[in-house]
Amino acid sequence: MPSPSPPPAQPVLPISEHEDEIVAAVDANPVVVVIGETGSGKSTQLSQILHRRGYTRRGAIAVTQPRRVAAVSVSRRVAQELGVPLGDEVGYAIRFEDRTSERTCIKYLTDGVLLRESLSNPDLKQYSVIILDEAHERSLNTDILLGLMKRLIKARASDLKVLITSATLDGLKVSKFFSGCPVLNIPGTLFPVEKFYSMERPTNYIESSLRTAIDVHAKEPPGDVLIFMTGKDDIDKMVSKLEERIQNLQEGSCMDALVLPLHGSLPPELQVRVFAPAPPNCRRFIVATNVAETSLTVDGVVFVIDCGYVKQRQYNPSTGMYSLDVVQISRVQADQRAGRAGRTRPGKCYRLYPMSIYQKEFLEATVPEIQRSSLAGSVLYLKSLNLPDINILKFDFLDPPSRESLEDALRQLYLIDAIDENGQITDNGRIMAELPLEPSLSRTLIEANELGCLSQALTVAAVLSAEITLRSTRRDMDGKRKRQELPDGSGWGDHIQLLQIFESWDQIGYDPKWCSDHDLQVRGMKLSKDVRNQLCQIIQKIAKGPTDVLARKSRKSDPDYRKLRRALCVGYGNQLAERMLHHNGYHTVGYRSQLVQVHPSSVLEGDEYGKFPMYVVYHELISTTRPYMRNICAVDQAWVEPILKKLEKLDVNRLSGGSSAPKDSEPLTDKQEISAKRAIDVKQSEVD
Ligand code: ADP
Repeated sequence: MPSPSPPPAQPVLPISEHEDEIVAAVDANPVVVVIGETGSGKSTQLSQILHRRGYTRRGAIAVTQPRRVAAVSVSRRVAQELGVPLGDEVGYAIRFEDRTSERTCIKYLTDGVLLRESLSNPDLKQYSVIILDEAHERSLNTDILLGLMKRLIKARASDLKVLITSATLDGLKVSKFFSGCPVLNIPGTLFPVEKFYSMERPTNYIESSLRTAIDVHAKEPPGDVLIFMTGKDDIDKMVSKLEERIQNLQEGSCMDALVLPLHGSLPPELQVRVFAPAPPNCRRFIVATNVAETSLTVDGVVFVIDCGYVKQRQYNPSTGMYSLDVVQISRVQADQRAGRAGRTRPGKCYRLYPMSIYQKEFLEATVPEIQRSSLAGSVLYLKSLNLPDINILKFDFLDPPSRESLEDALRQLYLIDAIDENGQITDNGRIMAELPLEPSLSRTLIEANELGCLSQALTVAAVLSAEITLRSTRRDMDGKRKRQELPDGSGWGDHIQLLQIFESWDQIGYDPKWCSDHDLQVRGMKLSKDVRNQLCQIIQKIAKGPTDVLARKSRKSDPDYRKLRRALCVGYGNQLAERMLHHNGYHTVGYRSQLVQVHPSSVLEGDEYGKFPMYVVYHELISTTRPYMRNICAVDQAWVEPILKKLEKLDVNRLSGGSSAPKDSEPLTDKQEISAKRAIDVKQSEVD
């Protein structure tokens, strides 16, 4: 193990000046809310303070993060500050990656991992302190954890301390939720930030951000520039355009420039570059997603360019459809973004929207994820806790989801046998809850184990979880040619193609060159291999009865992939579609039938729908220019019959325990509609 590099010189952070106050509050109360500006030291210092004050003698300190990238980055920083190798006293655990050991006493983990840990250890006895960090992000899992902590505090009386930290959260609301627990406000040292507004919304926000960035570089004194973009694609474009324009700058700045991207899917070695100070006489341009709003604090920023948009995934329970929309940020987000400019000295924020839009059109705060996500996984989790008094519709949420989305989750779980017709969790449901996969894939694995094709199903689950994207919609000839050289799914669809691709790579010994030759992301493919190995271990631990994981060589005995397709049909019983005879396209089968098309990236391409299979299951429904099914697999009619029977019997009142609570007065769809209206066409932002 290499010895860690010495801790960097560190200015005293605001939170350290309040150490005694924090410790006194934690000593005296089971729950404490800590509110402090981004960068005040909540994520990196709170755990160290409590460690120093002896809280790790009785158990470890868990610090949850909504984002994987933050869990990794912050734990690395804390290990460095303490001068210990990462993975020893300080470690992290994110889905499919555990870098902790028996010695770990400060553990950073995603909120989802902590939820999963609570399944095998309901009282979370291994922890003396649980810090729910970044609660203002209002991630779905943090919201569930808030409800869970409330119960845990009662169960563990005096031996558990819970801290909830936030940069912006309405502290009183959380305090009220926890029966009036104390709220500590850590005053920040934020310098004034001058805000400049555009006269109108730009038609192209990348171009407008570029011009502003070049202006700053040419006219402003030294100081780094943080530019908020909506996602990886925009960031990539922005980085290359900005580098090009800086090079061509005629009456140039007298400073050098360094352009750095920052987003969640950046490889770790590139992520850390933003934490290194700028070289002498050099201005850094950090082009980031909203991960730089509060999750990661980048020092040295004096100028912020805010396009006013964010990419948000939204789920509509009445259609079962996801959309990835570029939507307007909330006022809270806009203020966070501006605040990044004032951490070290007075700064400037260029808002690429008029003040009237900020005041009148932006929502006050971001809609919590629980009100814009599919809740099937969360409801299954809550059911599996076996809490005596739990009626899902009445679970104690900080902001409850709509009844419609809870009922949607119950129906989905029923169709894939995770709960029975009375809403009780089944044996299958219990196994599914323990697998770190979405319910449909977990169900597929269980069925595959029964049918004797677990090995193949594990590969499919791993590849889908690693989110390998085949860049198959690429229009250039080169991309098309590379794609044609890949296996074609034998006419059965995308799941089978993904399986065949992985198997081809496996057969040639996991050669990275093969991936790049075929336009596949090497990192994604490697990740799917790791994920597969881990899923193998997990399922062998959980699944009752023998698993056929090791019987990998037997795969050739199922030439039509019948077993695997059948397992997929059972797993995705809630995501089934039937081809229409007189129209192009499919309609989804079930309680929310609607017209959908096969996504253009599917391996099942064709001009005439008549050539498509009669029944398919799909991995997800997404709405872009129109409703599409992404990743589909052909299934047989005979396998569909039992699902249709279940649909006939489906009675949502029974599923929800006969609860006759009135419908929400303000259903989720209203809020989603508002967001959807504000969504702009992503293509608008394209720079030619
Ligand atoms: P908060 O949680 O209150 O937003 P943090 O504890 O994340 O604050 O950050 C406190 C300080 O630690 C900041 O100055 C930030 O730049 C620094 N820091 C945090 N993470 C890292 C990292 N991975 N590398 C270097 N510095 C970091």
